[in-house]
Amino acid sequence: MLPAILGGKPIRKNPLPYAKQFIDNDDCKAVTEVLMSDFLTTGPKAKEFEEVIADYVGSKFAISFSNGTAALHGACYAAGVKPGDEVITTPITFAASSNCALYMGATPVFADINSDTFNIDINEIAKKITNKTKAIIPVDFTGQAVDLDGIKDLVKGTDIVVIEDSAHALGTKYKGKPVGGLADMTEFSFHPVKTVTTGEGGIITTNSKEYYDKLVNFRSHYITRDPNQLENKDGGGWYYEQLDLGYNYRLTDFQAALGISQMKKLNWYISRRKEIVNKYNSTFADLDGVILQKNEAFSDTTNHLYVLKLDLPKLKASRREIFDALIAENIGVHVHYIPVYWHPYYQKLGYSKGLCPNAEELYNCMLTVPLFPAMKDEDVEDVINGFHKIINYYKR
Ligand SMILES: *Cc1c(COP(=O)(O)O)cnc(C)c1O
Repeated sequence: MLPAILGGKPIRKNPLPYAKQFIDNDDCKAVTEVLMSDFLTTGPKAKEFEEVIADYVGSKFAISFSNGTAALHGACYAAGVKPGDEVITTPITFAASSNCALYMGATPVFADINSDTFNIDINEIAKKITNKTKAIIPVDFTGQAVDLDGIKDLVKGTDIVVIEDSAHALGTKYKGKPVGGLADMTEFSFHPVKTVTTGEGGIITTNSKEYYDKLVNFRSHYITRDPNQLENKDGGGWYYEQLDLGYNYRLTDFQAALGISQMKKLNWYISRRKEIVNKYNSTFADLDGVILQKNEAFSDTTNHLYVLKLDLPKLKASRREIFDALIAENIGVHVHYIPVYWHPYYQKLGYSKGLCPNAEELYNCMLTVPLFPAMKDEDVEDVINGFHKIINYYKR
């Protein structure tokens, strides 16, 4: 079959995106109810949403934020990350995972990935730990849990804080337990492409009251009315105090209401995502020219992303050509991610290419395959047929 990019007929008529939110009437009703209530910004619904998330992941506390990036910023603050400190993370992630260290004046340090799982490599973390390391931000890339016990072993006896970036991993279990109650702090994002959405939104889950108190103040200008925290003890009435430099990072109540309503569908989101992933895994395993992401036995993964490696030596086209050919078939592939330190801003900061060879090798041959719960079975078939068409056409 002639690829659409060369004048053939595309596999499908309409472009299929790589990700998309799923919103139903219950979601709309939940949001409009709050719009007509007394609270628009952070109020009872935000609190309820925090309880729903804490309950689900099994953490003592959850603190909602205006987005996942703000939540990571808060986590770095609460961890005490400061200028001169180093924060270790993976280069195969969204820039927010390392920008949060820069926000605090600290230096991101990139540890290379494992070429099979695509997650940060624990041995590479070990090599990068110095007496300046203040935090490690491992990312559950695509939704696959990192080996948290391995990372905890590395930092045992030190004051290094582990902040798990689980923006991709709501619904994933590590050794049988939900991701979110296991690291010092865990961040989730509720951006529309993520498993549960609030439009924009994020949250930190933690079992530490100390982190909780700091995060609550940090997201609201570091202003408090809590009598136990005030320096001037005869406050009251109008009186409040700003105790440190905070931000306005609050989640609105109507967004929280959307989140609560979305959480009622989480089990369905998880099972639908898993169903599609299983279908992809079984068919793509037999497609010569692509290589699957390895899933470790300890991770019961709910995929946010589905990524494949192209086996480029077997193909007579580049990743760019395969990408363009699939887009022409109306299969909305994408690439996650450009190694963070390749961005011009990071290059200006002094990071050079070649730093993490495995990450760079992965970046050069990877594709993200459409995955979202609202995909119809026909959409899934289109993706599978589109990949077979293009990969087989360009096979050596
Ligand atoms: C989505 C995402 C975040 C947070 O992003 P926001 O858009 O600010 O919610 C952080 N880390 C990773 C890896 C992400 O994919």
